[in-house]
Amino acid sequence: MHETMVAESIIETITEKAAELGLKKPLKVTISCGKFNAVNDEVMQFAFETIAENTICKGMQLEIIHKPLICTCKACGKKFEFDIYKPACPACKSEDFQIGKDQELIIENIEFQDPSK
Ligand SMILES: [Zn+2]
Repeated sequence: MHETMVAESIIETITEKAAELGLKKPLKVTISCGKFNAVNDEVMQFAFETIAENTICKGMQLEIIHKPLICTCKACGKKFEFDIYKPACPACKSEDFQIGKDQELIIENIEFQDPSK
């Protein structure tokens, strides 16, 4: 159900943005999310298409970018991507590290069709 809510809010944002810019045809939206705010790509695509059906967003492309979670090693200070299967610093193998803040789900970019075309 999380995906449906996310899809709804994305479409709402696109609709507002389109009105604000006076553009009618959004083509593509890019969203990004962190590891823990992640959405399931397939479920998200389906939810988006379903909700977009009766809106100006019908037929739009949805791109989902998954951002890695960055950790900082407390022993040597190295920054690395968190890997649940290897939760240790790749440089010094220390398991004492700080996990960075997870990225929230945000809209990175919305592409509209050029109105002059
Ligand atoms: Zn280290």
